[in-house]
Amino acid sequence: PPVIVWFRRDLRLSDQAALAAAAALGPVVPVYVLDDETPRHRAMGGASRWWLHYSLESLDATLREKGSRLILRKGKCEDVLAALAQETGASQVHALHHYEPWWRNAEKGVGKCLTLHLHHGNYLAPPGTVTTGSGNPYKIYTPFWRALSERMPPPEPQRRPQKIAAPDSWPASDKLDDWGLLPTQPDWAGGMRDMWEPGEDGAKKRLRAFVDQASRYEGQRNLPAVEGTSFLSGHLHFGEVSPAQVWHATASAGGSVATFLGEIGWRDYAQNVILQLPDYGSRSARDTFDNFPWRSGKEAQEDLRAWQKGRTGYPIVDAGMRQLWHTGWMHNRVRMIAASFLIKHLLIDWQEGERWFWDTLVDADYASNAVNWQWTAGSGVDSNMFVRIMAPLSQSEKFDAAAYIREWVPELADLPDAEVHDPGPMYRPKGYPARIIEHRAARERALAAWEKAKG
Ligand code: FAD
Repeated sequence: PPVIVWFRRDLRLSDQAALAAAAALGPVVPVYVLDDETPRHRAMGGASRWWLHYSLESLDATLREKGSRLILRKGKCEDVLAALAQETGASQVHALHHYEPWWRNAEKGVGKCLTLHLHHGNYLAPPGTVTTGSGNPYKIYTPFWRALSERMPPPEPQRRPQKIAAPDSWPASDKLDDWGLLPTQPDWAGGMRDMWEPGEDGAKKRLRAFVDQASRYEGQRNLPAVEGTSFLSGHLHFGEVSPAQVWHATASAGGSVATFLGEIGWRDYAQNVILQLPDYGSRSARDTFDNFPWRSGKEAQEDLRAWQKGRTGYPIVDAGMRQLWHTGWMHNRVRMIAASFLIKHLLIDWQEGERWFWDTLVDADYASNAVNWQWTAGSGVDSNMFVRIMAPLSQSEKFDAAAYIREWVPELADLPDAEVHDPGPMYRPKGYPARIIEHRAARERALAAWEKAKG
């Protein structure tokens, strides 16, 4: 009988242990289930749905090169897979492990009606297996990374299966276009189409391009005006490339890539955190934040809107937020500055920021997003202190963001270097907003709020 391969955020053929295991057994029925019914912390965001559309298209095309194809079905995973098993005579489902709480619930449901085999391969080491000497999971990144490094390198990545046998007849499939994953009116995805090629081939191209410059990563990664990072986050999130593939390709590139590999380690770390604390995306981990005096009400709503639209009057923040809206991605240094600005300058709950990023990032990832927002807020198990308040204007100068600002905030394009980070009233072009709050006043307000929260 055929074997079902249940694809989720692992949309690749190479180094895909579930596909390899199933292909070794006999005919394979590859399926992707669009499940908008199983409750999640939030519905899949708009930018993610855009990416998913093209990634599924690409997966189907590469499967067809192997004589196979991708079956698309919509509904609750367990119901859909049970029905598909009945139609095809399959009794086994193979899939890769995922750690979002809703996926783990879905796995329980599927396991009740079918034999579900879960394989590893989306992280450098299986989450939950990197533990202290006494067998406890780590809560802090640095010791986690030290312990994980000792287990590296990850296993050699596997090639695509030579052969994927087709079942005698193919079950029916939905049409991808009917799923409505792409925006219609207005079409906000133009900047995303220009920048990304979702799918396994696109991921390979990005990885190849990055390998040549990986040894410069450490010196360049904090400069938003330079393309100094890998741009792999969307591809890694959707599993179009495995972290083991990234590791082996970069580690053999020569030069120091330790800092880069440590960032891939943050991705593993984040999964380990949500495995311990599944509601990390919707709850601060520290008690001080239970009654934090976040601003709310009309004025705070207006400030939130200004932040989302890139109209705060702080050029580095505005450039980042516009880059995000336009391309579905933001440079990591600027993500930190923009997140800190929302939480500390505007005193708005980090969960509002997490929600906006969730909807607009092509790499929106439950674990990585929550871990980074809580890190910035100071509310996480491992985090920056709340009272360490980033000064956006000096960050902008320090990391040489002038060209980046000119690109994303064209109103400021003609200003001299000395003014572009911080256009005073004399230089501020018409149409560019004044600062919504002064840095010093914001700082004092944030520190007072912290004192109040501490009780
Ligand atoms: P590179 O610098 O080339 O890093 C390589 C890979 O390592 C990335 O693709 C990513 O998979 C991983 N990585 C790097 N930094 C981190 C990090 N701090 N935490 C976890 N993984 C990391 N990253 C996401 O993938 N999804 C998110 O939803 C997300 N939300 C974030 C929210 C905030 C507030 C902040 C400050 C950071 C967030 N990040 C998130 C982390 C980071 O900004 C992005 O992973 C990175 O900018 C992606 O670009 P890159 O692929 O060029 O990264």
